[in-house]
Amino acid sequence: MTAHIIDIALDPEAALAEALAVLGEGYPVAIPTETVYGLAADATNPAAITRIYETKGRPRFNPLICHMANLAMAERYAQFDPLSRRLAQAFWPGPLTLILPVRDDSGIHGLATAGLDTVGIRVPKGFAALLIARFDRPLAAPSANTSGKISPTSAAHVAEDLGDRLRLILDGGDAPVGVESTIVRVDDGRIRLLRPGGVSAEAIEAVSGIAVLRPDGPSATIEAPGMLASHYAPGAAVRLNATEAQADEALIRFGGQPLAGVDQAIAIFDLSPSGDLAEAATNLFATLKRADASGATRIAVAAIPDHGLGEAINDRLARAAAPRD
Ligand code: AMP
Ligand code: MG
Repeated sequence: MTAHIIDIALDPEAALAEALAVLGEGYPVAIPTETVYGLAADATNPAAITRIYETKGRPRFNPLICHMANLAMAERYAQFDPLSRRLAQAFWPGPLTLILPVRDDSGIHGLATAGLDTVGIRVPKGFAALLIARFDRPLAAPSANTSGKISPTSAAHVAEDLGDRLRLILDGGDAPVGVESTIVRVDDGRIRLLRPGGVSAEAIEAVSGIAVLRPDGPSATIEAPGMLASHYAPGAAVRLNATEAQADEALIRFGGQPLAGVDQAIAIFDLSPSGDLAEAATNLFATLKRADASGATRIAVAAIPDHGLGEAINDRLARAAAPRD
């Protein structure tokens, strides 16, 4: 099987029609979202969800985010408390996932929620939301990559990794946000950050007027399964907080920082020469892939500021550098 790739901009109607046909037959489709490319399938169809896990080689205890066309549709599948609803109104469509109690009659299959009584929900921007509205069922969609590898921010990345295991890839150009959604859970009027992502904690605090609580202790592991292991791993080793480049390394820096030994590096990349964290997030995964392809045995990454989208960037880098099993 070799995936058919359709450029959405060239033929949006064909993209929609073909995607609806493949989804309706219970197969996954790779689709662009503003965060990264997703591997989307019918969240109510167990065979379709099983194909997502099989295609990615993803552990089944790791629940999938279910994507909705809009807030009204989301309310049919999950129970919103007032604060979660306020966050949804402020940030949807966009890169925010809310963990909410799933409705008993929702039809979302337990394979998508990994058997939990909650569901992770978000409303994506653009073509993905249109597709879901036409399909009129939620789409479970993790990132469209082999489990544990770097997430794809272009259709070409998806094709390289999964092209021979998929029927259809929709090409919507480069993903503008570049990192996955922020995941939060509201309980007792508190907002807990389960995964930093494309919406900064500061933005959530500005909208809600409530401090965002960071995960602490082992409960975070249970709450957001699959979040702490090695992930986003390039082939090369990753060395963080580099203050200099060593021989045989590819160097990734930020904001034009001056670093010693750059002439020893095999390749040098700057996530954002102007020091813009949103731009750095957009470029992160593609830059990791290019650094990996440079032939370096190790990728050295200079310190990235930890505020705003820097929190999501540092989270992904820490997992790219984590020991692998
Ligand atoms: P992704 O790999 O981007 O699809 O992200 C899915 C992540 O969302 C999972 O690894 C979980 O950490 C989190 N998630 C999804 N659903 C739930 C849920 N019901 N409860 C807690 N975390 C969830
Ligand atoms: Mg992923």
